[in-house]
Amino acid sequence: MEEQIDWDSLTFSFTPTDIMYVAKCKLGEEWQTGEMMPYGDITISPAAGVLNYGQGLFEGMKAQRSVNGGIVLFRPERNAARLITGAERLGMPPVPEEMFLDAVEKVVAANARWVPPTGKGALYVRPVLWGTGPILGVSPAPEYTFMVYVCPVGPYFKGGMHPISLKVSDEFHRACPGGSGGVKAIGNYAPGMMPSKGAKKEGFAEIIYLDAVEHRYIEEVGAANFFCVKDGIVYTPELTGTILPGITRASIIDLARSKGYEVREEKVEIEFVLQADECFCAGTAAVISPIGAICHGDTCTMYCNNEVGPVTGELYDALTGIQTQVEADIFGWIRAVPMPEIEIE
Ligand SMILES: *Cc1c(COP(=O)(O)O)cnc(C)c1O
Repeated sequence: MEEQIDWDSLTFSFTPTDIMYVAKCKLGEEWQTGEMMPYGDITISPAAGVLNYGQGLFEGMKAQRSVNGGIVLFRPERNAARLITGAERLGMPPVPEEMFLDAVEKVVAANARWVPPTGKGALYVRPVLWGTGPILGVSPAPEYTFMVYVCPVGPYFKGGMHPISLKVSDEFHRACPGGSGGVKAIGNYAPGMMPSKGAKKEGFAEIIYLDAVEHRYIEEVGAANFFCVKDGIVYTPELTGTILPGITRASIIDLARSKGYEVREEKVEIEFVLQADECFCAGTAAVISPIGAICHGDTCTMYCNNEVGPVTGELYDALTGIQTQVEADIFGWIRAVPMPEIEIE
């Protein structure tokens, strides 16, 4: 008898599930066929490339229970493509798209009992690609592991969306030109923890990072993409290599244009943003987070009276509507997870 899951107590935190996927590849060879196995700890060499030199990437996506009953993924081909780009950047063997999608679908299907009912959250899917072979010098590891595990998460905003306050950092940067900011390299995230903790101590939810060269243009909000709206035009920083190309970001751009908004991908100056009408950030976890206030030095701007702005709300409803199939999938973004035949005992 399997234990009952209390959906209402789910938060955005880690819960182990039943099954994970593991595949291996030796440097210069093809990927071996992956295996499904019980979720659990793995053993790894202390000399593994991932542990010593950060040769690692991750992905993040959500499987949701559609209002039509099935389990659906949102644009997983985009995650597959992003992992390939990252693998090339970090000198790792890319995981072919078909292998990535097959692994994700199988792990979601095998953990179907962990997919929350519609509206109660999602099954967060975490593919990782690591250099797991031992290596002493700074060079690509001799062996790689691609794994997929999943974890149920509650709604990001419990009790409805609430705007967050952000602080612009004049001290720290997330990424620099020519670096690894444009891929989901594991090493990009720990350096953000200390600045983020400092901002939280001051009562802010997160840091806004400016570009590392001119210290003028907004790059990202912690680990989410930034948008603002001014005079009905939607702005988001252009992808210059230092900004992570979010799938939520790309989807919001298409969605906003389809609703008749002009969307400009360009350099977005902090001084301009402090005069904007609405701001929000975007990523898989929260989908869209409204920004209620931004402080830069002694200057603070409050947006929409610290309430959810109209464009922010419209785009949030449209995107989450598509993701749960409440709205028609006009862009072909939804991919149903094939479910194996249920065995009758
Ligand atoms: C993952 C991530 C995002 C959001 O990407 P999505 O594909 O929308 O989830 C934005 N910024 C950073 C730094 C990220 O790691």
